[in-house]
Amino acid sequence: MTSKHIVVIGAGYAGLSAATRAGRGGARVTLVAPESRLLHRIRLHETAAGREVPRPTIAHVLRGRPVTHLQARVTELDLAGRKVFTDTGETLAYDTLVYALGSRTSWQDVPGAAEHAYSAERAAELSRRIQDAPVPGTVAVVGGGATGIELAAELAEAHPDWQVRIVAAGAVGGHFSERGRAHVRKVLDGLGVTLHEHTAVTAVTADRLETAAGPVPADLVVWAASLEVHPLAAEAGLAVTANGQAVVDDHLRSVSHPDVHVVGDAAAVVLPGIGRLRMACATAQPMGSYVGRLLAGRTTGPFKYRYATQCLSLGRREALVQLIHADDSMRQGIITGPLGRLTKALIVNAVPLSLR
Ligand SMILES: Cc1cc2nc3c(=O)[nH]c(=O)nc-3n(C[C@H](O)[C@H](O)[C@H](O)COP(=O)(O)OP(=O)(O)OC[C@H]3O[C@@H](n4cnc5c(N)ncnc54)[C@H](O)[C@@H]3O)c2cc1C
Repeated sequence: MTSKHIVVIGAGYAGLSAATRAGRGGARVTLVAPESRLLHRIRLHETAAGREVPRPTIAHVLRGRPVTHLQARVTELDLAGRKVFTDTGETLAYDTLVYALGSRTSWQDVPGAAEHAYSAERAAELSRRIQDAPVPGTVAVVGGGATGIELAAELAEAHPDWQVRIVAAGAVGGHFSERGRAHVRKVLDGLGVTLHEHTAVTAVTADRLETAAGPVPADLVVWAASLEVHPLAAEAGLAVTANGQAVVDDHLRSVSHPDVHVVGDAAAVVLPGIGRLRMACATAQPMGSYVGRLLAGRTTGPFKYRYATQCLSLGRREALVQLIHADDSMRQGIITGPLGRLTKALIVNAVPLSLR
């Protein structure tokens, strides 16, 4: 055991993967995060639809590793003095900080969105609201990307008596290959989901969305149009991009503070031949794992990454596994039906295991 103290803030896919591996190097490691169980964001659409999602405790993920979990929220960072302040009154001094505070739903300054819409983070509340509704109604999911599609498909399948709509500024699933997009549309159509494409939402009220094409009635609104990173990186003085992600070097070290590593959605990672990595579990976990191994002295080279697939669940019976090139561009190949469903389920179930 060395006297070095590594503090990891955030216990998502990136933070946990970093903490469990960093602990193998002999340093003292403290993980700071408010929750006692893995948030497991990639299954929040299932939670929204009322399904019981197994979420391991943080203690279970950390078992047998010399990592202390401080259940608290970070309120402030003193990067010059190497200190982390928490809402429970503790102040932690660190030699190395791993910043992994992730991202959250962005309301994009749309009037009424924060007041009237649910985000994926409030999935359990949304599920109760649907179950407690006296009569079935209309739920509008705003956003036609992967998160919006997964939410809409899951809600439509679990609640066939509700009318589910997707309202999207562009084309629904527009970033997939032609075949991938066609499959998504076919499944959504089979589930009775109505698409309002190229329809930007300008305001949200208690019973409708205002759009450039006119009002869209909605008893419930789910906002899945955009993500934003935690503001603490910028507030603390780390070098950040225009969207607040920390600028890092090829070892995922902050370019302004080399004693701070940044991983997951919080980091703006630009790789040769790929460009800026997407905010995703698929990129967050490998980043955390790499920094953990780096800090434990198990690797010295730069961070490397290659994309392989994009997987989308479309309810419990269908899925899309979209094959992609190493740089995230689309191949035409897709896997659907039972094999697609099985592949997606295997990947999702493997994620908690990959955190150690
Ligand atoms: C419904 C849904 C489905 C998704 N599906 C997929 C998918 O299929 N594939 C994929 O690759 N990606 C998917 N994503 C995206 C993926 O979930 C995120 O990109 C991923 O969670 C980022 O991981 P992270 O570790 O960087 O941060 P997060 O998972 O956001 O974790 C952040 C951590 O920081 C903690 N934290 C926040 N604030 C503080 C604070 N002040 N102090 C201390 N701790 C704090 C949080 O509690 C949490 O522990 C999906 C997202 C959603 C919402």
